[in-house]
Amino acid sequence: MAKKETEKKKSLIPPLPVAVTAKKTRSAAKGRANKLPAELQLMDNTVYSKTSFEKEFIENHYNDDQKSAASGRKARPAMLYDTDDTDLTKFIGDDFTERLAATERAVKAATMQEDKKPSRTAHSVAVQRHEKASAAAEDSRQSAPAARTTRAKTVKKALQAPEYHSNHRPVKRTPVRIIPLGGLNEIGKNMTAFECGNDMFIVDCGLSFPDADMPGVDLVIPDFTYVEQNIDKLRGIIITHGHEDHIGGLAYLLMKVNKPVYATRLTIALIQGKLKEHENIGKCSLNVVNPGESVKLGCMNVEFIRVNHSIPDSVGLAIHTPAGILIHTGDFKVDFTPIDGEIIDLARFGELGSKGVLALMSDSTNAERPGHTPSERIVGESFERLFARADGKRVIIATFASNIHRIQQIVDNAARDGRKIAVFGRSMLNTISAAKELEYLNAPDDMFIEVEEMNKYPPEKICLITTGSQGEPMSALTRMAMGEHRTVTITPTDYIIISANPIPGNEKFVTRVVNELLRAGADVVYESMYDIHVSGHACQEEIKLIMALTRPRFFIPVHGEYKHLKKSAGIAYSLGIPKSNVFIGSIGDVIETDGVDMAITGKVTAGKVLVDGLGVGDVGSIVLRDRKHLSEDGLIVVVATIDTSMNAIAAGPDILSRGFVYVKENEEMMDQARDLLTEVLEECLEAGMHDWNSIKSTLKNELSSFIYKLTGRNPMILPIIEEI
Ligand SMILES: [Zn+2]
Ligand SMILES: [Zn+2]
Repeated sequence: MAKKETEKKKSLIPPLPVAVTAKKTRSAAKGRANKLPAELQLMDNTVYSKTSFEKEFIENHYNDDQKSAASGRKARPAMLYDTDDTDLTKFIGDDFTERLAATERAVKAATMQEDKKPSRTAHSVAVQRHEKASAAAEDSRQSAPAARTTRAKTVKKALQAPEYHSNHRPVKRTPVRIIPLGGLNEIGKNMTAFECGNDMFIVDCGLSFPDADMPGVDLVIPDFTYVEQNIDKLRGIIITHGHEDHIGGLAYLLMKVNKPVYATRLTIALIQGKLKEHENIGKCSLNVVNPGESVKLGCMNVEFIRVNHSIPDSVGLAIHTPAGILIHTGDFKVDFTPIDGEIIDLARFGELGSKGVLALMSDSTNAERPGHTPSERIVGESFERLFARADGKRVIIATFASNIHRIQQIVDNAARDGRKIAVFGRSMLNTISAAKELEYLNAPDDMFIEVEEMNKYPPEKICLITTGSQGEPMSALTRMAMGEHRTVTITPTDYIIISANPIPGNEKFVTRVVNELLRAGADVVYESMYDIHVSGHACQEEIKLIMALTRPRFFIPVHGEYKHLKKSAGIAYSLGIPKSNVFIGSIGDVIETDGVDMAITGKVTAGKVLVDGLGVGDVGSIVLRDRKHLSEDGLIVVVATIDTSMNAIAAGPDILSRGFVYVKENEEMMDQARDLLTEVLEECLEAGMHDWNSIKSTLKNELSSFIYKLTGRNPMILPIIEEI
C-alpha cells in the first residue's frame, strides 16, 4: 500500500515545460556555438536564465514531496523547441545538443530507476521526445535542405502525438451503464439512460421533426420501451436545458412513467408550459435545481454545472457514480462575454478533471467547424449598426423563440431608439412571457405593446419580434411575406432582419420568404451578410478545451449525425486520447464501464415513435407508405352498386379522383376507364364471382394497368362496392 502511494506521487510530478524556444543569442549567431546560452526565451517573451527558470518552475508547480523528488534529479535544460516551428535548425550548437542528450539520458535513467519499471510516465515520454528532437536537429544540420524538411516533418509528427493521461484512477468497481436512446447519429430527440446497480435515471427527453418521407407526421420522439420495462429502477429525469430536442418528448414520457423531473429554473418553467398542452398527464413533480447543486438518484449523484448555450440556464452534468465520474456536457459553447454574465463553469470542469474523470460525453453538433463559436454579444453589436441604418423605418426581426439573450439584445436596441415592441408567433409569446415573469428578460414595463396598438405609433417607433426565421409555412413571418397576415402588411418602410441560419433542409423556405419580402419593397438582412447569428454549440477549440480540462479516460461523442460524432472522435485522438478509449455508439447500445475498461455489452430496444395529432405511435410503416403513395400519385375511388338479386350492376361504376388528374381536362380517359370497369364488373358477375374482395382486386388491377399505360402514373385505387 505504502509503496503504491509513493509510486503514485512520483507519477504525478509534472514534467518540465518543453514549449520554450531558444533565443538566438549573439554568440550563436557568430558561430561561437560551443556554449550553452545563458538566456532562454519563454513563449511569452519573458527572458529567464536557465537556472532561475527551472527553480521558479519547480517552486510554483511542485508540492513539497515533488520538490524533494525533483531535487534528486539532475537539472536539465528546460528549452527545446517551438512545436509550431518546423525549422529545427534553430538549435544552438553541437556542444549544446550533446550536453542536452547526455542530460536527458541521465534524467531518463534516474526516472527509470525511481519507477522500477519503465512505465510511459509523462516524464519519460517527454525525455524520449527530447532525444528524438535532438537527433533530428543533428541530422538536419548535416543533410541537404530537402532531406532536412522531410526529417523535420517526421519530427513534427512525433511531437504532435501528444502525451495524454487521465487523472482517473482505474480501479474495478460496480459497473455503470450508459444507454443512448436518442441523439446519436441524428440531430434531435436527445435521450440517454444511466444505470448502476438497481438505479436508473434519464438525461433529456427530446423530439425531432419528421423527415420528408413522413408525410402528415407532426413530430418524432424516442422509443420508451426500455424505460417502461425498467420503471422500478427509474429514480428521475434530468433535463439539461429547455430546447425542444431536449424537452419535447417529456410530456409523452411522463404519460407512461410519472417520475420526478429535475432541471434549472427557466427549463422547469418551459416544461410547465409544454405540459399544459397535454391534459392527460397527472400531477408531476417538477424540481428546480440550480447550477452547482446536486441531485441524489439512488447510488448516483448528479451535479449541475453551468454552461453557455443559445438558451439561458443550460447545464452540463457531472454524474458521480460508484465506477467514477461521468461528464455529460449537454449542449454547450464557451462564451466569455455572455449576455447574462454567467460564464460556463470551466473551473469546475477543471476541478473534476484533476480529481479524475472516467468518461466524457460531449456535444458534437459543431465538431466540423474549426475555431471558436463567437460570443452572443457580437450579434448585439450588429443589431446596433442595423438599427441605426433602419432609421425612419419599422424594424421586424425574426429569430428563434427560445434565444432569450438574443431577444434581450433586440429589446435593448429598441429601448435605446425609443421603439415599442410587438410580438408575433405563439412560441415567441410563450417564451417571452415566461422569461419576463422569471426575470430572464429585462424590459421597461411599457415596452411591449399589443398588436392592435401598433397603429398608434409611426414606423420608426415600432419593432416587431416574430417567429418564422426558418421560413416555416405557417409562421408569422411567412404569412407577412405572402401578404396573408391579418395585421401586418410589408411595405418599403420595413427593415427586416432574419437573425438565424437556415437549418439544413429549410434553405428553400427561407429563400422563398426573403424573395417575397424583397418583392414587397422591404430591406432584408439575412444569413451571413452580417454577424446577425451565432451558433449555440461548441466548435473544435471549445471541444478541445473541455477535453483538456476534464482529461477523461474514455470519450463518447454525443449529439450529432455520424459525421459529427466521427469528427468529435478525431478531436479526441488529436489530444492524445487513445483510439481504444473513444466510443462512437448507436442508440440502443449498452455502453458499460467498470472504471477500468469500457465496452458495448448489449443492445436494448430503441428507435423512433411517430406522433400524428393525438396519436402516439399509431402511424406505422404501412400508414406512411400509403401517405407517401397518396402524396405522389393521388387517389382514384371507384364506386359501384350491385343488385344481388338480379346479379347485375344497379349504378355506376363512377370514378372520383383526387390529386391524380384534373378530370374535366381528361374526360375522354375517364370515359374509357368507366367503360373498362363496366366491362370487367359485368364479366365478374357473369362468371358468378360473389367474393367482393376478389371483384375489388380485379377492378383495381385492370384500372391500374389501364391508367399506367396512358399516363405512366400509379395512383392509389380504392374500389367501393355497395349491394342492394
Ligand atoms: Zn440546445
Ligand atoms: Zn440540442
